[in-house]
Amino acid sequence: MLISLHEALEYAEKNNVGIAAINTPTLEMLLATIRVAEKYNIPMILQHAEVHEPINKIEDIGPVMVALAKRSTAPLVVHVDHGESFEYVKRGFDVGFNSAMIDASRLPYEENLAVTKKVVELANEYGYGVEAELGVMPGREDGSQVGSGESNETLYTDPDLAESFVRDSGVTALACSFGTVHGLYKAEPKLNFDLIETLRERTGVPIVMHGASGLSGAEYRECINRGVRKINYYTYADKQSFEAVQTFLEENPETFIFSDLTVPASKAVEENLDVLVNVLYENVIKK
Ligand SMILES: [Zn+2]
Repeated sequence: MLISLHEALEYAEKNNVGIAAINTPTLEMLLATIRVAEKYNIPMILQHAEVHEPINKIEDIGPVMVALAKRSTAPLVVHVDHGESFEYVKRGFDVGFNSAMIDASRLPYEENLAVTKKVVELANEYGYGVEAELGVMPGREDGSQVGSGESNETLYTDPDLAESFVRDSGVTALACSFGTVHGLYKAEPKLNFDLIETLRERTGVPIVMHGASGLSGAEYRECINRGVRKINYYTYADKQSFEAVQTFLEENPETFIFSDLTVPASKAVEENLDVLVNVLYENVIKK
């Protein structure tokens, strides 16, 4: 069933869990993600990032995401990830997405605020939630422009600015920069847990973590305990999928059918996400 971003975040707050928000640019990832949500009957967020448009356009994969979410026994949000303009977010709403992230974090503060406010106004007409970003996280959602993994305090989200940004924009949740990077880590990530707590208190809204691939279970738990409620995750699941296909090709060198590769690919995503949700939803998944 389709639930709102507000409902998913309320569930996270009540149960002290982090909602897994998974990019599903392909049908294999989409079906695998839904299987995991249904297995544990947990709320999850299906997302399509603008950077994934070359893989599948939101007008093509989007209606499939929405239809499968509505049909599912699990509570699911369908969310635009890293919409870089008002127009892209609107394209998501037009195909039935009920939540969006507007990412104007690369613009100066005032411009970021102006674009974000415009998106919040549109979302309010539908009663949808909006996530915005303040502070710049290195790397891109599709794993390109790999971050160094070294902490860079100049990029951290400023608590004073975060407080005024949330108050003036009216966003539902805020993506903050506190030491994670998009894509693969080359060095140990250095997370600033105290900053998460400060940002949560000052803004009064749930904090969103991007670049969550590659963290340890203990790091996830600590981030959740400090106020992270939505956890964007993608790269390592898709990497595991790729490796499963490589293994399949090695073991079946005579294969010449592309569609056969989608079976181990999807299964690998499911296995990867199964491990993830057992950490993020530790408090509600019965062992
Ligand atoms: Zn992101």
